[in-house]
Amino acid sequence: MLLHELVGHDRVVSALAQANASGTAHHAYLFQGPMGVGKRQAAFGFAALVNCVGEVSEPGRVACGRCRHCRRILAMGATEASTAHPDVLALVPDGRQIKIAQVRDVLRMVPFPPIEARFRFVIVDPADGLGEEAANALLKTLEEPPSRTRFILLSSRPAALLTTIKSRCQRVVFGRIPEGELAALLVARHGWSEELAARLAPVADGSVGAALALEDDPVMAARDEIMTRFLGIGPGDRLGALALAAWISEHAGARDTIVDLLERLLRDALLVRLGVSQRLFHEDLRPAITAWATRYGSAALLARLDLLSETRRGLAVFNTNPRLTLERLLLALLAFPGAEGERAMIPHNEVL
Ligand SMILES: [Zn+2]
Repeated sequence: MLLHELVGHDRVVSALAQANASGTAHHAYLFQGPMGVGKRQAAFGFAALVNCVGEVSEPGRVACGRCRHCRRILAMGATEASTAHPDVLALVPDGRQIKIAQVRDVLRMVPFPPIEARFRFVIVDPADGLGEEAANALLKTLEEPPSRTRFILLSSRPAALLTTIKSRCQRVVFGRIPEGELAALLVARHGWSEELAARLAPVADGSVGAALALEDDPVMAARDEIMTRFLGIGPGDRLGALALAAWISEHAGARDTIVDLLERLLRDALLVRLGVSQRLFHEDLRPAITAWATRYGSAALLARLDLLSETRRGLAVFNTNPRLTLERLLLALLAFPGAEGERAMIPHNEVL
């Protein structure tokens, strides 16, 4: 993807284009930000921009997309074909990590000038996939950067990187893609219907990758059914809660996304309960959520939100039995208000 066509990162795109046009590009960048927001596309797009030899309206600020460098570099970004351009080297994990031997292979070429391009690019995807030895080998090169090689390190977990590596890179922070832009992108580039994009973009947390994963998620397909059933169960109706757990397990599997949906439902209920006039996540269910929320005080809703965080952690860290976890969760969420015991109030602004 051409850098200037990247969606949702205008500030980053214009800063990189400006650096290239003015000849002040850094020798090493760390592109950090959530998974699936376009960091990798930006890296290949930037490599193409720097090396583009085509005719364009704003030289240095936009790439042509057609010249011999653009075509091959952008193809690498699109298909993970790692040998399309001899001067663009992608370091990706071989197994669980990027190994020292892979890094050495790449660094061996670095003292020599690029073969065809103005600048060689080494793209490390992800930088937190470097083993310790591999990271230290790379660090040495970053400390004495070769003149015609540029490094781009990608990471959604920059906290996991060596401080010494980070200090050698210029940081470029990618945020989440705004909901409206993400929905438009899913329609334009991935052929989604507007209805599907409007339904899933809010759950995808600003990430194209997450949205594409949700497309096939059975929980999302059954969302209307699950939410309507949940809201229809009265407080303390244990049989109703267990029946819903069984239905979800059978039709959608007890997956993380069910926790996401319920968490958003509870936040919606809390907003309604507190009288905050804000668009709800499940806006189409506002009347049913309003009726449901009146049964519970805001303290009871907050306690239930806590419970969801704990459940999420249980599923992720302790690998608890998903079906049993789902049953316990629904029983607790649908218990009589107050049945969760005494709980101190948290100031609302800390939660919202
Ligand atoms: Zn070009």
